[in-house]
Amino acid sequence: MLELKGIKKDYLAGENTVHALKGIDLRFRRNEFVSILGPSGCGKTTMLNIIGGLDQYTEGDLVINGRSTKDFKDRDWDTYRNHSIGFVFQSYNLIPHQTVLQNVELALTLSGVSKSERKQRAKKALEDVGLGSQLSKKPSEMSGGQMQRVAIARALVNNPDIILADEPTGALDTETSIQVMEILKEISKDRLIVMVTHNPELAEQYSSRIIRILDGKLTDDSKPLTEAEYQKELAADKAEITAGKKLKKPSMSFGTSFSLSLKNLFTKKGRTMLTSFAGSIGIIGIALVLSISQGFNTYINTIQEETLSSYPLTIQKTNTDFSALMETFMGSATSDSEHDNNAVYKKSAIYDMMDALNNMETSENDLKSFKSYIETQRKDSESDLHKAVNGVQYSYDLDLLVYTKNVDNTIIYSDTEELMQEMVMEHMGVDMQAMTNASNSVFGENATSMMSSMGMGGSSMNLWQELLPGDNGKPINDLLKKQYDVVYGSWPNSYDEIVLVLDENNELDDMTLYALGLEPKEDVDNIMEAAVNGKELKNDNKSWSYEDICNMDFRTVLNSDCYRYDESTGLYTDLRDTDAGLQYLYDNGLKLKVTGIIRPNEDTSAPMLSGSIAYTSDLTKYVIEHSKESDAITAQKDSPNTDIFTGLPFKDSS
Ligand code: ADP
Ligand code: MG
Repeated sequence: MLELKGIKKDYLAGENTVHALKGIDLRFRRNEFVSILGPSGCGKTTMLNIIGGLDQYTEGDLVINGRSTKDFKDRDWDTYRNHSIGFVFQSYNLIPHQTVLQNVELALTLSGVSKSERKQRAKKALEDVGLGSQLSKKPSEMSGGQMQRVAIARALVNNPDIILADEPTGALDTETSIQVMEILKEISKDRLIVMVTHNPELAEQYSSRIIRILDGKLTDDSKPLTEAEYQKELAADKAEITAGKKLKKPSMSFGTSFSLSLKNLFTKKGRTMLTSFAGSIGIIGIALVLSISQGFNTYINTIQEETLSSYPLTIQKTNTDFSALMETFMGSATSDSEHDNNAVYKKSAIYDMMDALNNMETSENDLKSFKSYIETQRKDSESDLHKAVNGVQYSYDLDLLVYTKNVDNTIIYSDTEELMQEMVMEHMGVDMQAMTNASNSVFGENATSMMSSMGMGGSSMNLWQELLPGDNGKPINDLLKKQYDVVYGSWPNSYDEIVLVLDENNELDDMTLYALGLEPKEDVDNIMEAAVNGKELKNDNKSWSYEDICNMDFRTVLNSDCYRYDESTGLYTDLRDTDAGLQYLYDNGLKLKVTGIIRPNEDTSAPMLSGSIAYTSDLTKYVIEHSKESDAITAQKDSPNTDIFTGLPFKDSS
């Protein structure tokens, strides 16, 4: 029997204390269907949560089968929640991308039942709620009433003594509400059901007992236990205890740390931590852990979506297998001779390591076929890919050349990495490009691509980034719009429109400001100087108005346009090599207009963009299309064996 003795619950809300429950005395029969009625805010959910062990009472006692819970440990509560209680909520909390059967099976993962038994029991529970024929459907393919029945099956599958339902029909129409009530009534024959509802008619018609609460106190109970019934329940408790049917232990313990981490989930810091954690261990594990504790469903979806948006699945042209390399680095080099263990012997590492580096298996992916596969799948609204994917982005091996005029009126190549390299060269005399080349010649060409594929390249210094396009040719993906607020202007809408991306504090770093032409070179020189010589640096607290930002002038130059035919030599030259040439390119470049300024909104824990200026995929298309038409490319294609810049034949590439 379940008994509440003088249960009080206080919530501290800032300075004030809310007395949510003000002393509740209640006894429940083993098998009955109890409805709880009362106005919003009177303490119904609080009471249900305390009964279910989701929340702790402040005063009084909750007596479970003759046992006081006053000195229950976390482990006891875990056992109670996992084995004695099933929860049903107004929002069904199903995992959308899993089938109905998987959703129900999941509730059994913690109870230490074998996989085959899990499946069998989940099937049985679904049959009990009349869904035996819908096992492989996804929640999205079901009506609200059906989803609530799945939730009931999930609550039932552990065969709990008590089912707690908080407004289970709150989101359903009358007809489907009735179906759900019929099921609850049926299952109340051999267990206790406590249901909070706003619908007195349903309560009247289906439940066996109605309890009314007002302002944290019990005001009415249609069928309290008689003294004789109470004695009978007590006797049954005793019999159970002597029969040794004690509380079962959960096979897996959720310690305090886990409940703490759940509490942290709803703080921003907790979410960010979780997101990066999810990124590192793979999101699936997280989803599983969270889905077991009910009520986190929407949360899981957002986390998955956000994690995938900042760590998207990428498929690259070449794919390198690092496993051999990893193995040697992990020191699992195998013994290469047989000997007794009576002295110290040598095993090889140097050779293995170098050999692994030399022989890394690289395979080429057929991206062309893959792309056409993706395109057809995405057009088919029934396909799994269509349903699972938020957006697809194709990256091409293309250098977007963007120039801008700096505040001191010089034309600069708007690229942080390039400018940073120049700075380092100038101030420290270190040539970063030469270092990269050197490391490539030591470790082979693979080193750089390996670094970048492992996310260690200069990607954090990327200034220009393509926006994830939406479906059906829309320039901006909905997920982006969800993650970012437009603080000024509007999203770009055409190939020659771009948007500035701020961080959550409306800031851009100084290197970026320099690359955008907003910070004079002199200032950056001073910063470099101070840093190199260990001097202090004052923050000059500069700021720019949104209007100024949107008036910035960027020109993109097609890579192919940089090369000009020189009549006198009959060769092509690079216009960027001379100031006049650069000026010519700038004047004739495609003007890019900043249409707006965006900033990740507060609800986004893992924003998608890492760059500071973002352009639409239409610009990429434009550059690709127009590069095809260039003179230099045509000329080079026409004379495939001669380098059009030097007039010399190409080195034999073999
Ligand atoms: P009901 O389910 O009947 O609508 P609740 O049990 O949710 O009511 O809430 C009862 C009272 O306790 C309300 O005044 C509510 O504001 C307060 N309350 C509930 N949960 C908390 C909480 N975590 N912190 C502070 N106050 C709370
Ligand atoms: Mg409530």
